[in-house]
Parts: sequence; structure tokens; C-alpha cells
Amino acid sequence: MSQRRPSSHLEEALAFARESRVLLRRGGEPLPWGRHETFEADAARDFGGLHTRAPAFVLCPRSLQEAQSALHFLYDAEIPYTLRGAGHSPSGEVLCGGGAVLDLRGLSALLPSQSADEAQVQGGLYWLPLCRALSTRGRAPRVLTDNPHTTVAGTLSVGGFGDSSHLFGLQVDGVRRATLLLPTGDCYEATSDDPLLRYALSGHGQLGILAELSVPLWRRSWALHARVLHFESAESFVAASIQIAEAQRFDYVRARAHAVSPYAVSALVGTYGVERAATAHRDLPHCAASEPEWIDFLAHAQQVGLPQWPRFNPALEVVLPLPSGFDLLLALDACAQELGSERLPRGYSLQVLRGRGASLLPLVPLPDTAWALIVALRPECQTLDEAQHVQARLTAFLPRIAAAGGCVYLASFPLPAAMVEAQLGSELAALRELKRRVDPKGLCNRGALFGYPLI
Ligand SMILES: Cc1cc2nc3c(=O)[nH]c(=O)nc-3n(C[C@H](O)[C@H](O)[C@H](O)COP(=O)(O)OP(=O)(O)OC[C@H]3O[C@@H](n4cnc5c(N)ncnc54)[C@H](O)[C@@H]3O)c2cc1C
Repeated sequence: MSQRRPSSHLEEALAFARESRVLLRRGGEPLPWGRHETFEADAARDFGGLHTRAPAFVLCPRSLQEAQSALHFLYDAEIPYTLRGAGHSPSGEVLCGGGAVLDLRGLSALLPSQSADEAQVQGGLYWLPLCRALSTRGRAPRVLTDNPHTTVAGTLSVGGFGDSSHLFGLQVDGVRRATLLLPTGDCYEATSDDPLLRYALSGHGQLGILAELSVPLWRRSWALHARVLHFESAESFVAASIQIAEAQRFDYVRARAHAVSPYAVSALVGTYGVERAATAHRDLPHCAASEPEWIDFLAHAQQVGLPQWPRFNPALEVVLPLPSGFDLLLALDACAQELGSERLPRGYSLQVLRGRGASLLPLVPLPDTAWALIVALRPECQTLDEAQHVQARLTAFLPRIAAAGGCVYLASFPLPAAMVEAQLGSELAALRELKRRVDPKGLCNRGALFGYPLI
């Protein structure tokens, strides 16, 4: 492992950048992409705002060749580094105090594709421009998360649940091919049956750069015909979601628990491009429905531009087994009530997913039950003190999540090693084996897997 001081890392990196012409930013200098004075352009911060670690320098490759030569340099110089997309993860996993950051947003090309049902993209491409380009061809990615201001590889390194997950599963489930740049600097073409790709998806960057990827598409309009269905309890929302998923009905389901009396949960449910009759949702156990409306999220995202994100965002997103997770949901809901509408102005997100058996990928954070419920708490905080206090309350749920057989999808804090071991089970040993093979010096994304020291 490198014992050299960060200043000598910087000197070596400056010499490398001069020779290779790879864009370099010193620690503290704004990144070439993202809004200044926000985490988007600050390599020492991420979306969560709870962690600050300045790197010695940032390399910003703009082609596969540049990314590969950056990896060769870091490998030879034995400099630890993290991979960074849009930095929307909250746990500090894209930060690297004193080491290097590889900002991958320069790998943002939409590549020619052999099939109309697949997009070939570089991993640093943001979802929003991808959607914009696809909309002109009457296509869309099969699953979209709530946040199009993230990169394709950033969400595929985590999982990606979204609008049509009841039809297609997680975003990672649809990836058929990828070009990986391994931490040794080797370029590796993988298909979906290759262990390297299978463990890179939802792998938090442990096996190197997801440089190019296939994203599955479907032919659809961008106009969603939808209504808001109100539910009096989370249980009735879950029952409706399972009914929808089993019958493969509707294209879009996203819900929030908000406790705005008399309802507990409200879900936007709809179909793209087709007006559904008012009777389409009658058999679901909802208690009220809004008038239907046409919504175009792409046009809306373009109109409103980039959101003003809060400064501090602690987060806990857990996947609970069903039905046994309902008790824990009650406790999380009580916590949300106490956090109040100031910190959770739109409540929190709920989504029913099929359990682990429905995904063939080893690292997806899903429990073994047939159905699972993802509960995503993202309180907004004004000060670091307040965010740390809120985060401590979220952290206190970990023993109960573990006891309930739940999984953490994403958190703004590291998990105890025993919890990561329980969550990933025997897959952890297989991941470690692959990691040793492709990253023998353990330089890439140390601690990025929920803080777990993989090697
Ligand atoms: C407001 C908001 C709403 C969200 N809604 C959803 C949602 O609906 N569904 C959902 O699933 N998630 C959601 N998320 C979570 C989000 O999808 C993840 O945090 C995702 O990782 C963000 O992508 P990013 O480009 O910012 O990645 P980053 O935060 O930059 O990176 C995330 C991880 O990916 C690794 N990584 C980044 N680029 C690469 C690469 N090219 N190759 C290999 N590894 C790489 C990083 O090292 C890190 O481990 C939401 C987040 C926010 C802030």
C-alpha cells in the first residue's frame, strides 16, 4: 500500500496529466461539471452533505482511452481513488481524503446501437439527456428512478428502482453488455452471464469503471395518463401494488406515505400514451382517486431545470420483507411523523418490489421473500448539526432492520460489518475473490460498499 504523502501524489499526478493531457483538478478546485458552490462541482462533498474529505487531485477523463491511462497511472503509482458520477449518493462513498477522485462525467456519449430496443451509452451520461435523445425515437429506458440528474453507471452501481419496476425489476436487471475498465487498467468486454459484470452491477464500483453499457428500452410515449390513488393504510397500498404487478397492469406506479389525513399513502398510477377507463383501478383497495390527467415528466424536467437541493440530506432507504416487515414500517413511519413536514415536506417514498428470487444478480439488496417493500426516508436539514442528529435517529434502526431480515439499499452512514455480511451472505466471498483478481492493490473505491473493508 502507498506510504507516500498526498503532496507527492499530486506532483506525480501533475506530471501524468501534462503528459497524457487528461484533465486534472487539484483538491479544492471546482470540477469541470456541475453547479459551482454545490456538491455537484465539489469533489470533497456529496449529495448527503454529512461527509467532507478533500482529495489531493481529481482526474476527469473524457474518453475510454483517457480513463484507461488514468487507471494505469493510479495503479502504478499505488494511489487510492474513488469513482464519481453525479455524486448523488449520500454516504461519502465517492469521496477520497488525500487520494484521488476519478470524475467520470466526461464519459457521456450516446453510442450507436445495433438494436432499437437498446441504447449503448457511456456510464457517465446523465439519464436526462439520454431520455431526451430517446424521446425523439419514441423510446424510453425501461425503468427510470425519481432522479434523472444522476449518471447511468451511478444508479447501476446501486440498483435503480423506479417507475416501471413492477414490470421490469431494477435497472440493473436489464443490462446485457458492458465494457469494464478494471482497476489494473485492463479493458474487459462482458455479457450478462459474466461474473465480472454480474458483480459490478449493484457493486458500488468495487470492480472498476462501468465505462460503456447497454440500457434496455421500450417503445412508449412520454405522456403518462395517470391518477392519484389514495390509500388509508400502507397495507392496502401494498395489496394494490401486488395486484398491479401480478397482472402486469399500468406502466407507472410511484407512491409516497405522507399521513395527510384521512389517507396514509398516495400513489400516482398510470399508463403511457393510452387513456385508461375510470374503471381500470376500481378493483384496487384504494379509497379515493383524483381526476385523471396527462403528465409529461420529461417536458416538466426540462421546463423546471435543475432542482435546488437542500444542503444536508441524511438518508435511509431500506427494503423490508413482506409481510413480516410491516411492524418495522410502523416504527419508521412513527420516526417520519416525528421528523415532521418541515424535514419531510413530501413524506417518504414507498415501493413494492419482487424479492430477491426475481433478480438473477447476486448483489441486489433484496430480501428472500416473494415481495418486498422499499421505504426511502430522505429528511432535508438546514445545518450539519441537525443532519447529524437526524442521522443518529436513522442509524438507531439498523439492529431492527437486521433482525427483520431487511436490507439497506442506501444510507448516509456506514453499516456495521456484520450487517453487510448478513445482507450479502455468501456473495460477499465471491465478490472478494473477484476484487482480489481485478484490484490486487485494493485501490479502487475502498469502503464504498456500505463502509465494508472488502480486502
Ligand atoms: C433526490 C434523489 C432521488 C433518488 N431517487 C431514487 C430512486 O427513485 N430510485 C433509486 O434506485 N435511487 C434513487 N436515488 C439514489 C441514486 O440513484 C443513487 O444515489 C445513485 O448512485 C446516484 O447516481 P450518481 O451518478 O450520482 O452516482 P454517484 O453518487 O456518483 O456514485 C454512486 C456509486 O457508483 C459508483 N460509480 C459512479 N460512477 C461509476 C462508474 N462509471 N463505474 C463504476 N462505478 C461508478 C461510485 O463510486 C459510487 O459507489 C435518488 C437519489 C436522490 C438524491
